[in-house]
Amino acid sequence: MTDRAFIEVRGAREHNLRNVSLDIPKRQLTVFTGVSGSGKSSLVFDTLAAEAQRQLNETFTAFVQGFLPHYGQPDVDRVANLNAPVVINQKRVGGGARSTVGTYTDIAAPLRVLFSRAGLPSAGPAFAYSFNTPQGMCPECEGIGRTTQLDLDRLLDRTLSLNGGAIQHPDFKPGKWLWKTYALSGLFDPDRPVQDYSEHDLHLLLHGRDLKVSLGEINMTYEGLVDRFERMYLKKDAAAMSDRSRAVFEQFVTGGTCPVCGGARLNAAALASRIEGRNIAELADLEATELLAFLRGLSDPAAARVAGHLAQRLSHLVEIGLEYLSLSRETATLSGGEGQRLKLVRHLGNSLTDMLYILDEPSVGLHARDVSRLTGLLGALRDKGNTVLVVEHDPDVILAADHVVDLGPGAGARGGEVVFQGPVAALLEAGTLTGRHLGQPLPMKAQVRAPTGWLHVQGARLHNLKDVTVDIPTGVLTVVTGVAGSGKSTLIHDVFLPLHPDAVVVDQSRVTTNSRSAPATYTGIMDPIRKAFAKASGRSPSLFSFNSEGSCPNCAGLGVVYTDLAFMEGISAVCEVCEGQRFRPDVLRHQLRGQSISDVLNMTAGDALAFFTEKPVRAVLQAMTDVGLGYLTLGQPLSTVSGGEAQRLKLATELHKKGRVYVMDEPTTGLHLSDIGLLLGIIDRLVDGGNTVILIEHQLDVIRQADWLIDLGPEGGRAGGEVLYSGPPAGLRSVERSVTARYL
Ligand code: ADP
Ligand code: ADP
Ligand code: ZN
Ligand code: ZN
Repeated sequence: MTDRAFIEVRGAREHNLRNVSLDIPKRQLTVFTGVSGSGKSSLVFDTLAAEAQRQLNETFTAFVQGFLPHYGQPDVDRVANLNAPVVINQKRVGGGARSTVGTYTDIAAPLRVLFSRAGLPSAGPAFAYSFNTPQGMCPECEGIGRTTQLDLDRLLDRTLSLNGGAIQHPDFKPGKWLWKTYALSGLFDPDRPVQDYSEHDLHLLLHGRDLKVSLGEINMTYEGLVDRFERMYLKKDAAAMSDRSRAVFEQFVTGGTCPVCGGARLNAAALASRIEGRNIAELADLEATELLAFLRGLSDPAAARVAGHLAQRLSHLVEIGLEYLSLSRETATLSGGEGQRLKLVRHLGNSLTDMLYILDEPSVGLHARDVSRLTGLLGALRDKGNTVLVVEHDPDVILAADHVVDLGPGAGARGGEVVFQGPVAALLEAGTLTGRHLGQPLPMKAQVRAPTGWLHVQGARLHNLKDVTVDIPTGVLTVVTGVAGSGKSTLIHDVFLPLHPDAVVVDQSRVTTNSRSAPATYTGIMDPIRKAFAKASGRSPSLFSFNSEGSCPNCAGLGVVYTDLAFMEGISAVCEVCEGQRFRPDVLRHQLRGQSISDVLNMTAGDALAFFTEKPVRAVLQAMTDVGLGYLTLGQPLSTVSGGEAQRLKLATELHKKGRVYVMDEPTTGLHLSDIGLLLGIIDRLVDGGNTVILIEHQLDVIRQADWLIDLGPEGGRAGGEVLYSGPPAGLRSVERSVTARYL
């Protein structure tokens, strides 16, 4: 770790990178661009961030290293002059019910100090105001603000016996270990329906304790069903459970706002303490802008210094376009883009310098108006003496860069090179795909489609929506616009979708179901491909499946072998037996027009389109190339495709359907300017095919290409939540209150 002027990368070859060597200026803002699949993430995350983390870990003792995740060496000859990395990505902030905007950014701390100095009557020192400490938390809900109770009637079907599956929770199903502790305890007749138990037996089943029972070889202490359920599930933080376990758990409980604290999370002493009439929970419920206004109006001199410090921290939230969030908002409910900006706020609050900050499309979820605030903050991070690397497609972020690295020229095997690097002004002249598209916005659509019908939303009041009634047209492309926090997702995801459950959400969540999933299996073409091989060889189609008899016995058709290591991330290595080919040698001898099944899985969709004559296979491959995924190989594990790629793969499988309603949230995420035209082409085909498409989007080219716009605002949070405009795009221009109108 040194202070030389450049990060030197020599011979980077991760994934599709073609022996890339380049120098990246330090203490500058560098933006990496290029079509999706060109290799930006392979360079920035899989090479630079991974190597920086690995080098950092090497500075710790072997003992400490034993507790750190293990980072394999990226495929690169040398990376010199790296600094300690901070990766700020869009992974959900999560953190459970105790993690709020206030606790996560640590802005809650100065607020507590403020109350310990100026709150009357004082509840004590600062932690008496924290819902995460025993001194401050509400004793009933232990600081969660909600309580949950077991709903015994849902957990236990009394008409059934233990052997018949009376206990409904899947962990207690007949055959499972937990079931055995009841059914085989010898305490009950396992074939008797629970409703026929004596009162004594029923009490034993639900609340029995301190009894020694033996299950065959094992002796254990019996615990009643209710006590056990409460200990295993209720005492855990539901927000910290996996989605699946939480979904199961929620079937067996009823819950609601804590009756004692009313959701405020704090005990009576903390809530009784007030500053100018407000307690700490009420202040934490204010939006950041409202809290700022309150602090500025404080007259108590004892409060002035802390209030000033608090206001300064809060102003970061405002600067980054999160002014509509309250400190009490749970981080688990934030979108990916909001989460990433919140992570940034956390870093703006500290005084670290000489770090390597790495961000992944920080403009996601931001209205054109707010992107300039974002670039200002990135500049501030740089000016503190940090090196800032950003993967971005947004033209305004690219234009704010000190230095641009443009990858390409194409995607996958056709990419992986640095096609340009230098200052932005030179990029505009460089003639690369990025250079050509910058500064060439798409025009407003001249001829819009006419709606074929309407989908209604009436009197919506969820979150900040102000009694919204709006009709969404069918048979056209509708784009929902508005600044962050104006209510777009609330309207579409939380109100519209539950009312119209037949609508299909095509999102960017990963499509992987197991480690063998690949484009070939996901799109359904693996079946006709296997049949083609079967026909050519006279063997059974199942021989050519990598999850069955034909697969390599050593790696079970994965092509790689995983080794789990205690304390470390597992390592994977190419299978020695099949050398990554996934199939038994005898299966590979069967060929279709000169290619083995393994050769086919290594083809890109584009190459496969030239190879296959089989109609059902071609239709899907054509759709994949149409959505710009011609570079994906048919066998590439889906766990390695990006969110944007996953979304387009989903679109490819939908292209031949009719009469459906599709909802997409920021489909341009991860898309290069040149790919946006492609995406719009696909959407046009969907709409022309008789479908309805509803997008939430900030990208101005997409907004201008809509048939219908629904603009929300005027601002975020309580200052938003109104429909400012609903109609063809041209009409929005004359709506004075609309921020969006100013950018069209
Ligand atoms: P970008 O970030 O520019 O969208 P990526 O670096 O994610 O591009 O991908 C570059 C190429 O490498 C693509 O063809 C992609 O499918 C491939 N790729 C990415 N990750 C993996 C992986 N883990 N294994 C194999 N191929 C990968
Ligand atoms: P947009 O999609 O336009 O960015 P949202 O619909 O996400 O806006 O948010 C609109 C308002 O509703 C904001 O004030 C936001 O803080 C609030 N909000 C959104 N989701 C939740 C939630 N799960 N809990 C509480 N408030 C929420
Ligand atoms: Zn409570
Ligand atoms: Zn193998």
